[in-house]
Amino acid sequence: SGLRSPRLRNLSLSPQRRLLNHFITHPAEPIPPPPVPSSSSSSPKSFTLAVKDNIATTSPDLPTTCSSGILSKSYISPIEATVVTQLRARGAVITGKTNLDEFGMGSHSIYSHYGPVSQDTPAETSAGGSSGGSAVAVANGEVKIALGTDTGGSVRLPAAYTGIIGYKPSYGMISRYGVIPYANSLDTVGFLSREIGPIKELIVGENGLWKEHDSNDPTSLTKAARKRCAAQRRGYRGQQGQPTELNGLKFGIPLEYNIAELDPAVRDAWAAAAKRLQDAGARIVPVSLPTTKHALAAYYVIAPAEASSNLAKYDGIRYGVRDTDAASDASAGGVLYASTRGKGFGEEVRRRILLGSYTLSSEAMDNYFIKAQRVRRLVRRDFNRVFALENPLQERETFELSDLPEEVEMEDKWGPEEVDFLLCPTAPTLAPKLKEVMEQQPVDAYMNDVFTVPASLAGLPAISVPMKVTAEGAAGLQLIGQYWDDARLLDVADAVA
Ligand code: GLN
Repeated sequence: SGLRSPRLRNLSLSPQRRLLNHFITHPAEPIPPPPVPSSSSSSPKSFTLAVKDNIATTSPDLPTTCSSGILSKSYISPIEATVVTQLRARGAVITGKTNLDEFGMGSHSIYSHYGPVSQDTPAETSAGGSSGGSAVAVANGEVKIALGTDTGGSVRLPAAYTGIIGYKPSYGMISRYGVIPYANSLDTVGFLSREIGPIKELIVGENGLWKEHDSNDPTSLTKAARKRCAAQRRGYRGQQGQPTELNGLKFGIPLEYNIAELDPAVRDAWAAAAKRLQDAGARIVPVSLPTTKHALAAYYVIAPAEASSNLAKYDGIRYGVRDTDAASDASAGGVLYASTRGKGFGEEVRRRILLGSYTLSSEAMDNYFIKAQRVRRLVRRDFNRVFALENPLQERETFELSDLPEEVEMEDKWGPEEVDFLLCPTAPTLAPKLKEVMEQQPVDAYMNDVFTVPASLAGLPAISVPMKVTAEGAAGLQLIGQYWDDARLLDVADAVA
C-alpha cells in the first residue's frame, strides 16, 4: 500500500508496566533533535519529551492516532506540528507518543482505542484526562517535559491527579498547527513537568515560544498583537529578570468555586494554600464570578458543537479507515459513511458528535449554541471585572444607567478589589479510583471540569500546581491570570509550588 509500517511497542517489557499503557508508541530509539548548524556556537541542552498522540510527528516510528480506531496505526503525518519542531530546535529528544481520551474528549483517559491509562499507584487512581498518558510519563520520571492539549482542562486535571505541574498558556500563544483539532476556539497546547523551571524557560526564557507567531495557524497571535500584549505587561515581568515577589500581590478567592461537591480535604488544602500566600505577604480577597455556575453547561454545548463539525471529515473517503464491507455494497448510498464512523469512533466521541449535531440543528440552535455563546461572553466579562490588569485583546466595557436623570457611565469592574491572580482548586475532588470512573455516567465525568472550563472559555492562562492534602491522594491548586500575563503566572506558580 506504500504506507510505511511503524514499529509499535510498549514502553516496558514487564507485563505490570504494560498495564499502565500511557505510551501508545515508543520508538526503539528516541528521536534526537535536528543537528545544529556548525556555524552556531552552542547547541541547546537536550531534554526528553513525550508528545500527546493528537499532535503530529513525522518520524516513521511515530504514527499519530488520537487514540482513535478511525485513524490507522500506520498513519504517518506528512507534517510535524510547529510546537514539536520548536521544541526539537530547543533540544527535545522525543521518546514516544502518549495515550489520551480519543481526540481529547474525556477527563480520565479511559476512552482510548488502546485501553485506559492507569497510574502506578497502590490506590489505582485515575490519571485524569485527556492528557493522562503525558501526565503519567512525567510523574514516573520517564520524561522531563510532556506535551498535552487543554481544551477544557485536559492538561490541568491530569496534572492535579498525578501530582505534577500542568500549564495551559493564553489562547493563541502557542501554535496549534499540526495539533488535531477538537474544539478550535478552545484548544491550546499545554505543558506538563515536575518542575516549573523548564516550562518557564521554554515559554518566556531567552528563546521563549511566547514570541513566536506561526503563519500556518490562523489563531496564532500576530506579531503586532504579541508586541501590543507584551508592551502592556512590561514592568511586570520581573523587571530586569527579577522574579515576581508574592509580597504585595493580590489573590482572589472566587466564592462561587466553593461548591457543595467540593471535597472537604480539597477545601482545607485550598484554605491552607491561601494562608501560606498570606504569610508570604500576599493579600487574599474574596471575588465573585457570578457566571461560573453556567460555564460548565456552556462548555459542554460549545465543545461538542465544534467537535461535531471538526470530525465530519473522518468519513472513510477523505480521512479515516474505510469500512471496506460497506464500501463494496454498491446499492448502499450513504452506508459507507455511517458504518465507517459507527465502527471507527468510540462511544464518547459518538456521544459528542450527536450532542453537537443536535445543538447546531435549526430547531435547537437558539436554545443551546447561541445561549452558550452568550454565557461565554459573560464568563469573559466576569474575569475582566476582577483582574487589575486589562485584557489587551478587549476594550474595557462601559455601562450606562439610562434610567438615571443624567447619564452615568460605569466602568465594568466589580467593586474595589481588583486582583492579580485567582486561586482555586483544579478539581473538586482528589483523584478518584480508576475502577469507579469506569463505571460512572458520562455526566459525572463532566463534573470534574467545573473549575477548569471557565479559564478555557475566556482564553486565559492557568496552571495547576500540586498542593498538600492531608488525606491520601493528590490535588491541584489552580492559578488563573489575565490574558497574556503568562510570565508572571509562571513566576508566581514557582513561588507557590
Ligand atoms: N474533559 C473535557 C472534555 O472532555 C476537557 C477535554 C480537553 O481539555 N481536551 O471536553
